[in-house]
Amino acid sequence: MSDASEHSKKVEEEEEEVTPDPQELSDDSSEDEAAGEMDFLRNLFSSTLGLGSADKVLDELTLSGVAHYINSGKCKNIICMVGAGISTSAGIPDFRSPGTGLYANLQKYNLPYPEAIFQIDYFQEHPEPFFTLAKELYPGQFKPTICHYFIKMLKDKGVLRRCYTQNIDTLERLAGLEGGDLIEAHGTFYTSHCVSSCCRKEYNLDWMKEKVFSDDIPRCDKCSSLVKPDIVFFGENLPVQFFTSMKSDFPNCDLLIIMGTSLKVQPFASLVSRVSKICPRLLINMEKAGQADPLFGMLGLGGGMDFDSEKAYRDVAYIGTCDDGCLALADLLGWKTELEELVKKEHARIESDNKKEKASDSKGAAAAAASEPRKEE
Ligand SMILES: [Zn+2]
Repeated sequence: MSDASEHSKKVEEEEEEVTPDPQELSDDSSEDEAAGEMDFLRNLFSSTLGLGSADKVLDELTLSGVAHYINSGKCKNIICMVGAGISTSAGIPDFRSPGTGLYANLQKYNLPYPEAIFQIDYFQEHPEPFFTLAKELYPGQFKPTICHYFIKMLKDKGVLRRCYTQNIDTLERLAGLEGGDLIEAHGTFYTSHCVSSCCRKEYNLDWMKEKVFSDDIPRCDKCSSLVKPDIVFFGENLPVQFFTSMKSDFPNCDLLIIMGTSLKVQPFASLVSRVSKICPRLLINMEKAGQADPLFGMLGLGGGMDFDSEKAYRDVAYIGTCDDGCLALADLLGWKTELEELVKKEHARIESDNKKEKASDSKGAAAAAASEPRKEE
């Protein structure tokens, strides 16, 4: 045996000696102290090695493993991270991707390139294309999905720490999440502001809606500058709240549920690596996402998802629609009937609210329909 392997064998043995057996410790008379020591060792091993059987929180890396954990009572701080995929079943297209019908409707504006519509500099010169798009996507025309109501249920059960969304459709709010439950990382239509940095007057959803549907370019009452919904354009910073909440939320997260996002847009995507090394992460998406980039791994940034390797110990992937994934998880949790009833009740309420609203502003809707862009043959 060479010196090197002799040495490594010795190190292994020493490590085995100092690693306490959890079984032994639980028999110890001073259980609290032992638990504290275990936590200390667990953290030490997590931070130095990143792996180990002590890090395994889920009894199995499946949806039922996740359900057992939620029902165990040990999982009190769930963070949801969501993207466009949770709203597709509501009929909202992923409008940021070129090639969707929405971009085709914008051809008459001769955008230099599709993304220009969300470029702040372009918007200040040419606000019309953005407001045409805003009319088509306007909040209030869509209903939250099963997935949105599943997140609301997590809140009702007292286990939702926060929902981080990349969506600007406000469906989380419509499903009953409130300001404190929600970080709208890419902003929201819910509020709008005057773009002039010395004015910044705030406008509400009703004010903006009235302008958008009467095809007026919204201008500030006070200074006549443009008024823009508070969605984050390319070239603008993410909301301050995103950064402040992130720092306190992620280290305390017991379970991260990532839904309907391919984790490609930064800095949102890197949030998955901000939870502790033992925190289980469930991805519900049409495809696997967030796996370690070999390059990032080499740079020591790490934190990528690992669903399949031999070392996988905390990441679970459900491949399918967000609604199906949430229903399957709700079923395993014993919440399925409750979830289905919540969806039914809330959809009925929204439909009746919309009917009332339509009756009161049918004039505006008729005007909006008349000015809808038509495709010339
Ligand atoms: Zn102003």
